[in-house]
Amino acid sequence: MSRTRFLAALLGALTLFALATPASATAAPQQTLVRTIYYDSSRAAELTATVDQAVQIWNAGVTSVKLVRGTGGITITTAQNGSAPGTASCVGCTRGQIYFYRNQITSSGASALRVVVHEFGHILSLNHPSDIGNCAKVMAGGRCTNAQPSTAELAAVQRFWTGRVAAPAPAPHEHTVSAAA
Ligand SMILES: [Zn+2]
Repeated sequence: MSRTRFLAALLGALTLFALATPASATAAPQQTLVRTIYYDSSRAAELTATVDQAVQIWNAGVTSVKLVRGTGGITITTAQNGSAPGTASCVGCTRGQIYFYRNQITSSGASALRVVVHEFGHILSLNHPSDIGNCAKVMAGGRCTNAQPSTAELAAVQRFWTGRVAAPAPAPHEHTVSAAA
């Protein structure tokens, strides 16, 4: 093969490769429709593993939003004394703060995992239901150990984040009923 013909063959091969690349990349765009919320549990102290467990529960139950460990999103802090087992600074948001209070988690009678799942539920868009104390709902508070969101709770989160491409404005969220915190 002459040098010229070799170069022509090489260019031909490169052109085929270049044409083939975009086609193989068209499978990826679907993933960009999943909203990612980063959470930083570096100040969650002894609740760090519980936070990861709660994240797994939500991530297993919904596909339109995904909680991923990282900075720039939701910061999580465990402190000693507060007015509720936990607080979330916003509802349906990608940036904010969650606080957990040891004294209130102990006295609430709820499992720590349920409390953590509950606060992430606020971040993921859920408010308290009217039937406070219903153990089947993680947003209902109560002296419960169930940490698995109900089918309706999961569906509401799924709906909220489906197709949501821009960060919604944070809404203030205060806990006034400690039983439902
Ligand atoms: Zn709450």
